[in-house]
Amino acid sequence: MSTAGRRTRFWRRLGFRLMAGYLAFFTLLLAVVGLLFRNRLIGIQDAQIRELLEGDRAALAGFLRETPDGISWEVDAEDPQESFVAERLRRVFMLADDEGRVLQASPAYRVIGVEPRSEILRVLSVSEPVWRTRKDPWGTSYLVRMGALTAPGGRRYFIAQGRNVALNEATVQQFTWQYFSTLPVILLVGSSLGWFLTKRGLRPLEQVVQAADSITGSNLNLRIPARGADDELDRLIVTFNRMIERLENSFEQMRQFTADVSHELRTPITAVRGQLEVALMTTQSEQQLRDAIQAALEEAERLSDFVKAMLQLSQAESGQLALKLQTQDLCPIAWEVLEQYRPAAEEAGLQFEAEFPDRCVAEVDRIQFERLLSNLISNAINYTPAGGEVRCRLTRNAKSVELRVKDTGRGIPREALPHIFERFYRVPTTNTSDARGLGLGLSFVAWIVKAHGGTVDVTSEPGRGSLFVVRLPTSSSAVPPKVAAPAEGVKA
Ligand code: ADP
Repeated sequence: MSTAGRRTRFWRRLGFRLMAGYLAFFTLLLAVVGLLFRNRLIGIQDAQIRELLEGDRAALAGFLRETPDGISWEVDAEDPQESFVAERLRRVFMLADDEGRVLQASPAYRVIGVEPRSEILRVLSVSEPVWRTRKDPWGTSYLVRMGALTAPGGRRYFIAQGRNVALNEATVQQFTWQYFSTLPVILLVGSSLGWFLTKRGLRPLEQVVQAADSITGSNLNLRIPARGADDELDRLIVTFNRMIERLENSFEQMRQFTADVSHELRTPITAVRGQLEVALMTTQSEQQLRDAIQAALEEAERLSDFVKAMLQLSQAESGQLALKLQTQDLCPIAWEVLEQYRPAAEEAGLQFEAEFPDRCVAEVDRIQFERLLSNLISNAINYTPAGGEVRCRLTRNAKSVELRVKDTGRGIPREALPHIFERFYRVPTTNTSDARGLGLGLSFVAWIVKAHGGTVDVTSEPGRGSLFVVRLPTSSSAVPPKVAAPAEGVKA
């Protein structure tokens, strides 16, 4: 079953996972931000109220006078503002002497609890003011500042005054409640929007998956249409399409290869069969029988050549045919090959010339070099009509040897040039004389050149001739360790 055909579980979908990730992240972020703000608010309020209490403490000093009985308030009753201020300062107020005896305590302070003697003495023993939060029985909070007051007579008194902080607490509570109760709403709206956008963003991906899934071995010519957005997805589509194209080419090559091999095998087999049948049914003389057997043998040889060539080519392609590199002079080898072809060239009415230096030393596999040269020369002879010319030249420089095989033959059409190194490829022709070629010679040339780490170039003009230029490195250090398919890496 295909992946796209199967419904992906909801929570495994990319969209859902993206969304869930963002949702978790933003929930955490907003919660942390909310808590930070809450703490900051509490801090600001605390600082403000402490500042107010410090102000109260300073104002208090102006109202208190030391008397023989302790401390008393001195307020001008005629001045309404002073009375009001004194009244406010006295609201949550407590006074004790340096032995811990409570001298004064406002009703509000009594409600929150008069400070015990131990606390009074402790406060008097330190120089810094002491801050405490006290609660009345109804839960209202007060911030209390406790400290020492040194009277002009030198006696130390304990003074505590406080302020109601219920309003501040209510503000914090209200903020906290409002913030955290709107948080789910914000997250819900945010995640719905996120879900919508993610779905919209991933929809093209879904379409690509569907399109890709509909491509099978039988419709490899299909392509996924690019959206024209020039984004990552479009790049993925282009890459995917290229992959399909390569697959299609491989499929096509395989199909073509099977068809070619079957065809190549069928023709000689049919011929052998036909000749033998005819011989069996119609021959009257021994000579006729001999001729038939001779013809059948030729076809069988051709069949055997073909199978041998195929075997070697597939060995070469799979890297099983290792080169036996040896540093040697190529001139005598090339002469030998040339001499083998001289009779055929003369028979074909061709001018056959070679131009070799005295020595041309390079590190090559002798057998493969011979094969390379044979293939190029036999092609030049085969595809050049009588009266033409075939020239072979060998030169060497510091790094490479160059072999040029030039003919004045029929040439190769421009559109055929990229294919001549492919297996079984033959330039379509009406000329029956070259119908017997296997179309494998140049595939071997390409493989041999590549295996030696060299290059082969071909220039050709239909009707005027062709020139094959092979360059091989003089030393094997340039030879790649593994050799792939013969047609690759060849410049044509
Ligand atoms: P073949 O066995 O048919 O010669 P090759 O692989 O050697 O196979 O060559 C492939 C095709 O390239 C040939 O069929 C021929 O059409 C063309 N070709 C090769 N060499 C030449 C040449 N020197 N002149 C013209 N055509 C050539």
